[in-house]
Amino acid sequence: MSRRTDRKPGLFARLWRDYLRQHRGAMALAFGLMTVEGSTLALISWMLKPLFDRVFVGKEAGAIWWVGGAIFGIFLLRAVTLVASRSLLTRISLGISTEMQRDLLAHILTLDGRFFSRNPPGALIERIQGDTIAVQGVWSSLLTSATRDAISLVGLFAVAVVIDPQWTLAALVGVPILILPAAVVQRYVRRKMRQNRVNASDRATRLDEVLHGINAIRLNRAEQAQVDRFGQIVGRIRRAEVKVAATSVVIPALTDIVTGIGFVAVLFLGGSEVMEGERSIGEFMSFFTALALAFQPMRRLGATAGIWQTAAASLERIYQVFDTPPTIRSGPRIAPPSDTSITLEDVWLSFDDQPVLRGLTFTALPGQTTALVGPSGAGKSTVFNLLTRMVDPDRGQVLLGGVPVPEYDLATLRDQFSTVAQEAALFDETLRENILMGRPDAGDQDVTRAITAAHVAEFASGLPGGLDSPAGPRGSNLSGGQRQRVAIARAVLRDAPILLLDEATSALDTASERLVQDALDQLSQGRTTLVIAHRLSTIRQADKIVVIEAGRVVEEGTHAQLMNQGGAYARLVRLQFGED
Ligand code: ADP
Ligand code: MG
Repeated sequence: MSRRTDRKPGLFARLWRDYLRQHRGAMALAFGLMTVEGSTLALISWMLKPLFDRVFVGKEAGAIWWVGGAIFGIFLLRAVTLVASRSLLTRISLGISTEMQRDLLAHILTLDGRFFSRNPPGALIERIQGDTIAVQGVWSSLLTSATRDAISLVGLFAVAVVIDPQWTLAALVGVPILILPAAVVQRYVRRKMRQNRVNASDRATRLDEVLHGINAIRLNRAEQAQVDRFGQIVGRIRRAEVKVAATSVVIPALTDIVTGIGFVAVLFLGGSEVMEGERSIGEFMSFFTALALAFQPMRRLGATAGIWQTAAASLERIYQVFDTPPTIRSGPRIAPPSDTSITLEDVWLSFDDQPVLRGLTFTALPGQTTALVGPSGAGKSTVFNLLTRMVDPDRGQVLLGGVPVPEYDLATLRDQFSTVAQEAALFDETLRENILMGRPDAGDQDVTRAITAAHVAEFASGLPGGLDSPAGPRGSNLSGGQRQRVAIARAVLRDAPILLLDEATSALDTASERLVQDALDQLSQGRTTLVIAHRLSTIRQADKIVVIEAGRVVEEGTHAQLMNQGGAYARLVRLQFGED
């Protein structure tokens, strides 16, 4: 309980500091405009006094003109301030939500693998889009209507008090009824909305997984099961939203009752005073109109508590992301390593208490090709992730050029590597853009060289748009082998001192594998290369072969040495080739 009350001002304060403060000028202007707009209601009710007393009752011929003119002027003012304040507020509120979206993405990109195994892509999309938009909804309603409504109310009550303070008190006699339910409703809405944001994340995650696995779902005839599962999630969302909607209107509904009580009280108190001639009809009408005009703003204000709770539930989630610190922090060293030797010293790493690397130690000399071999799940790809600092070890050291990798600036460190991974990560852009990602400032000649070396040119020329053909979502317009060749072209273009090849030719057919292998061999000339390959024929020429099993090095040496030893490597080779 105390934690909750601690956090509430925290949310507000942070929001102000991070996003609202820089808009304070525009917000003040919008506030001014809304003050004008809000006070027009009071002016209108105020104008009813001369309308009744001087025009209708007093029958002053001239008065009809200026009273009419003044009322029209008030409406005109309302119209102008409405347009100005609404466009200004939209600019502010959208400015805030888009800044938030950008900041969230920027922050998420600094986070590490553990964060992403806890937060699937769909759920993160929902946070970046759904939650920021829920927060934006607050600006629209809190700033727009709430400010204007609050000012309307102040103005209208000022009119009421000036006419008769006692009548005003009578009008408010029912208000205490509102206090307890308001507190209960707020807490309930906050709780439900928290739940529902989680439901919305589940929905986005399901959609993401289903839409990325359409073929697998069809092939396993799991359509109905997936639809049912999705149906359950959206059903939960619907039920929660209905409850929140019903609860949120409790306050506006009670406002109706409170207003009704107020009306009757004023009627009894004021009605007799007018009948006895103590008060004019104009005064009474003016007062009653002020009360009637206060009705809608009051109702809307009653609903804002619920709206704020909805936004707060999302804001909590947004700040949860911002509060997740990146565990992989950039080091101070900007200078590139003096040489490209790679050393792992007694490296231990586990994921969720599941040990993956258990005292891994080996060295890769500069300019040489070192192959990592071992059964799948042995931890080979993890070695690449340690080098590029996608993940840091629990214990032990990873050194590049004799310097521990955490000491390098992340940009410097990652600039040292060209990586071709197991799954070629292509984006829904053109082939050219996908390749240029390796080095955005590369010239046409370099691109041509890269696509020739990676044998992309052969198939690209057959595509309708050539190199400018779209690769499709995740590269789906291409075959697995073509995707891999594009990824290799990207690495060739990148031209970094160290080459990391993780099953880089695994998706190629034998003919193109030979071609691409040639290209890779050329590329690795004079470069420090780490290569992971299942097809042992491709690594026979490596300067050193490191055999990894269950996160430990079990053997190292050249192909010939290891074959002579007749250990794990020799067994693997015999398995693949029958014999060698
Ligand atoms: P391989 O030798 O086949 O390349 P990997 O290095 O990819 O093996 O993975 C080694 C082990 O680490 C596997 O059992 C895998 O499940 C686990 N692993 C790798 N990355 C993660 C991760 N981000 N979260 C949890 N487990 C992981
Ligand atoms: Mg692997």
